[in-house]
Amino acid sequence: MATPIRSCILCRKRENWTELLRVVKDGDRVIPDPLNLQPGRGAWLHRKCFDAAKERGSFGRALRSTEPLSTEALEDFLEQQ
Ligand SMILES: [Zn+2]
Repeated sequence: MATPIRSCILCRKRENWTELLRVVKDGDRVIPDPLNLQPGRGAWLHRKCFDAAKERGSFGRALRSTEPLSTEALEDFLEQQ
């Protein structure tokens, strides 16, 4: 069984996964996976760490993307929270 502890891609703090938001790479986009259902490589972060993660390009690194990733879908999701 997978460990429930994940670390945030920005601040690296380790948390139970329920405290973090999972995101996955979908083509050239980063999309939210709040229910932890999407297959594939995911990354975890605090909702409050999003802005800084975007600024620092943490998503591309965490999701092993060589292309710049669009975070629009994720931003829309966070705005609705
Ligand atoms: Zn964080």
